[in-house]
Amino acid sequence: MTAIEITFLGTTAGVPTKYRNHAALHLTYRSQEEASVLFDCGEGTQRQMLLAGLNFMAIEGIFISHWHADHFAGILGLVETMNLEGRKKPLKIYGPEAEKFVPMLEELGYSTKDFGLVPVNAEFEGREAQVLLENAELRVISMPMKHGIPAVAYAFVENDRINIDKAKAAALGLPAKGPIFGEIKEKGFAAHKGKRIGIEDISVRIAGKKVVYTGDTMPNRNIAALSADADLLIHDCTFFEDVTDMSGYKHARIDEVAAAAKEARAKKTILTHISRRYQSPKELEAAAKKYGMEVAHDFMKVVLK
Ligand SMILES: [Zn+2]
Repeated sequence: MTAIEITFLGTTAGVPTKYRNHAALHLTYRSQEEASVLFDCGEGTQRQMLLAGLNFMAIEGIFISHWHADHFAGILGLVETMNLEGRKKPLKIYGPEAEKFVPMLEELGYSTKDFGLVPVNAEFEGREAQVLLENAELRVISMPMKHGIPAVAYAFVENDRINIDKAKAAALGLPAKGPIFGEIKEKGFAAHKGKRIGIEDISVRIAGKKVVYTGDTMPNRNIAALSADADLLIHDCTFFEDVTDMSGYKHARIDEVAAAAKEARAKKTILTHISRRYQSPKELEAAAKKYGMEVAHDFMKVVLK
């Protein structure tokens, strides 16, 4: 993998339409081996993955934004398929109150899975960011959102990478290749013809990417904090107009998303979780374009290099 690849598997709000499935977002990241995560897993997610040509077995974890059925009902079927395909490795399921709901999924029905589901709770109150997953390549961070029930947003944050710059190395008299590069990478420096050569002398730092998925939420102060300078902000935009008593719906409207994206200085914003009242993608795209944003559709792919 040389890039982060995001596939929208479901972009509807609440009810599926002919064109939009329930919420799910698939993210594959650069790694030694193919690895991916899911953000939300609405009903039918596994079939959407199949149609998109995505690999069930590469999923490292599932991050649930909140426990409304349109965001999690696909877990049961997906884990059974993973089992039939031979998964042995435990599957972590992250989310607010994961320790309450994941055991219920485990107990429901007769299952003979060869692997367990491991719940990981995400804090859903306050203003603190929480690191849920961290390895040498990346972090996944959550922050509480505002949806009337426990809900969180997630940021997928890639670490910066150090790439050797051959031209810089050659200018310092280093050979085109050789064990000295391994030594410099490991120790941070090496001696060459009596001179100290540090990793910073022969490399360039490539900034890691940041992708934020809000799940379902009303506007709140944590959104801009979590998505500050994000390369991609994927935001609930259930409504494109004023609706009567919007507070009852606990979602975001297009102008509210635009304000949050601006405050966060997000480089690109894509709207998802679209109400079924909107049937014309062209009109939605035109409305989003006025704010410099885009509208998601099922199977839309975004690649971050
Ligand atoms: Zn919801």
